[in-house]
Amino acid sequence: MALANENYLKTPEIYCFDEIEKRVNAYKVLHPNTKIIRLGVGDVTRCLTNEVVQAMHAAVEEMSQQATFRGYSPPQGYDFLIEKILKDYRKLGVHLNRESVFINDGAKSDIGNIGHILGRDNIIAIADPIYPVYENATIMSGRAGVMNVDQKWSNVVYLKCSEETAFIPELPAEKVDIIYLCNPNNPTGTTLNKTELKRWVDYAVAHDSIIIYDGAYQAFITEPDVPRSIYEIKGAKKVAIEIRSYSKTAGFTGLRCGFSVFPPELMVYSKMGEKIPLIKLWSRRKANYTNGVSYIVQRGAEAIYSYKGKEEIQELVEYYLANASIIRNELKSAGLQVYGGISSPYIWFRTPDNQPSWKFFQQLLYEFQIVGTPGIVFGQSGEGFMRFTGFSSREGTLLAMDRLRGNL
Ligand SMILES: *Cc1c(COP(=O)(O)O)cnc(C)c1O
Repeated sequence: MALANENYLKTPEIYCFDEIEKRVNAYKVLHPNTKIIRLGVGDVTRCLTNEVVQAMHAAVEEMSQQATFRGYSPPQGYDFLIEKILKDYRKLGVHLNRESVFINDGAKSDIGNIGHILGRDNIIAIADPIYPVYENATIMSGRAGVMNVDQKWSNVVYLKCSEETAFIPELPAEKVDIIYLCNPNNPTGTTLNKTELKRWVDYAVAHDSIIIYDGAYQAFITEPDVPRSIYEIKGAKKVAIEIRSYSKTAGFTGLRCGFSVFPPELMVYSKMGEKIPLIKLWSRRKANYTNGVSYIVQRGAEAIYSYKGKEEIQELVEYYLANASIIRNELKSAGLQVYGGISSPYIWFRTPDNQPSWKFFQQLLYEFQIVGTPGIVFGQSGEGFMRFTGFSSREGTLLAMDRLRGNL
């Protein structure tokens, strides 16, 4: 008799974003001709840039010729891409060892997979409001414990982010082993500056903890005091894994490519207290469980680092940031409490009259034909908030703001 891994039954049956779709579809059935504007999407909408497309065309051509055909990628990724990544980091004053970069098929895979190389008994801390993948990965790997009446898991330490601290997570009072940090943050769009991030690095150094630093939105940073990499903070190589993705930066959500950095200085401990470089376990996992990312896609990613490629990507990011700024300004002038949208495509705001977030979701949909993401899908502490994104088209964003003007 084959047994199930019952940890998988503990995650919610419907992924929270399915509930949004269900409600939007219910509206559409009743109102087939109205134009719905989606300000809830966490996906890019602009097409791939020319440099990326040209590079992939050329790579397809190479694959079609006997002399230039390639089979399996090296498990860590191709040197041509890793070299570009290292050079990019050097501009930040960050010198990474070539062996420490691992190309992957997007950040999400590694966010979950890292759990395989870490002991089961680690205590995991997650910023709350929560990016659901961090919590679900913790539950499915059997580390969450049991669910309490307040919908929180007994073995998870929730790092409260609230209006009082402008959604900057508070350091845990107790000792934690693994900390997920997302900077700039999804869903709140807020950022940790160098001083704030340094407190986390110092905490991790003092407690031998590991920070899993999700830098998926680093390209959106516009504030000079916000670090683009956690390794800009002294001591971080000893405590942090950095995950980056080309998804939001370069429109790769459908292509799939990103990378993780495992500095060789980063240690974990055996039960006997023996130090083990985490990179050693990760290399072993990579060699056994993946054959890397397609050559064509890695060539596409490489193209982002050329002079023209960079310009094109910058334009893409600025497009989304301009949308975010339009939304931010409109909501602010409506007198709402607004966060994010400066170094992030996400705008997080308090619902008018403190309405529950699903109630406000319905109002937005039925009165204004706008879809947002109710804060509660990011956990209880997201209740009373709504998330909009700059990932819609410019026309859609402007039209949505017209509809809301004077009505909130
Ligand atoms: C979109 C996103 C990612 C990127 O995921 P991919 O798997 O690379 O597409 C990672 N982290 C956060 C918080 C995100 O919102």
